[in-house]
Formats: sequence, C-alpha cells, structure tokens
Amino acid sequence: HTAAHDPDCIFCKIVAKQIPSGIVYEDEEIFAFHDIHPWAPVHFLLIPKMHIPSMAQVGPDQAGLLGRMMALAPKLALEQGCNPYPEGGYRMLTNTGREGGQEVQHLHFHVMGGPRPWLRG
Ligand code: 5GP
Ligand code: ZN
Repeated sequence: HTAAHDPDCIFCKIVAKQIPSGIVYEDEEIFAFHDIHPWAPVHFLLIPKMHIPSMAQVGPDQAGLLGRMMALAPKLALEQGCNPYPEGGYRMLTNTGREGGQEVQHLHFHVMGGPRPWLRG
C-alpha cells in the first residue's frame, strides 16, 4: 500500500510547499506546477497530492481521481496560455518506470502546449 506522503519524495515536498514551485493549481487532492525544465512554451506537471509512485500502482480506487485530473488538464492548459482546440490544444503524457523514462517516482502528467513551430502533424 502507498503511504499518503513520502518524506523523501521531491514532489511530496513541493505539495507540502517545503520546496517552492510555480503553482498552477491546487485543490484538496490535486496539485499542478510549472516544470523546472520546460520542453514547450506551456509545460506544467499535474499530480495527485497523494504519493502514488506511478501509473503502475494505480488501482480502481484512483479512477475518479484520474478522471478529475484528465478533465482539469484542458482548463489549466487554456489558463496557462495554450490556444483553444482544435488549432491549439496540448499534449499530456506520463512516463512509467525506468524504461518508460520516469525520473521522479511520484505520479505526474506532463501537460505541454503553446505555439511550437517544430511540432508537426
Ligand atoms: P519524468 O522524467 O519523471 O517524467 O519527469 C520529471 C519532471 O520533473 C522533469 O520534466 C523535470 O524537469 C521535473 N522536475 C524535477 N525536479 C523538479 C523540481 O524540483 N521542481 C520542478 N518544478 N520540476 C522538477
Ligand atoms: Zn511523493
């Protein structure tokens, strides 16, 4: 079972505001903040406040939480300067495990958007 918070986890520390971050959104169960190394004009991380290491630990009890995060993403993307669908929009992705490219072991969704001339298709 996952503990609510991991004292050694950098994202738990960001949620607890022990480490400062550019806060994008906060409610009782969800937190969003700017990625420290943005890959796009808009790039924030959307995370559950609860310490869930990755998508590999998500179960049926988290389905509602994940759904709320998915539904929140387009609203926050617009607030952060992404253009509206369909010409605008955003990319949302999560890396899972070492071979999935995950570096921070607290579930997070990258939300990336804004005008990017190098993006095709
Ligand atoms: P991952 O590779 O685990 O999917 O992505 C981790 C992301 O967290 C990276 O894009 C990295 O820039 C970001 N990140 C890591 N440490 C910090 C931090 O202390 N503050 C913020 N704002 N972002 C961080
Ligand atoms: Zn954590």
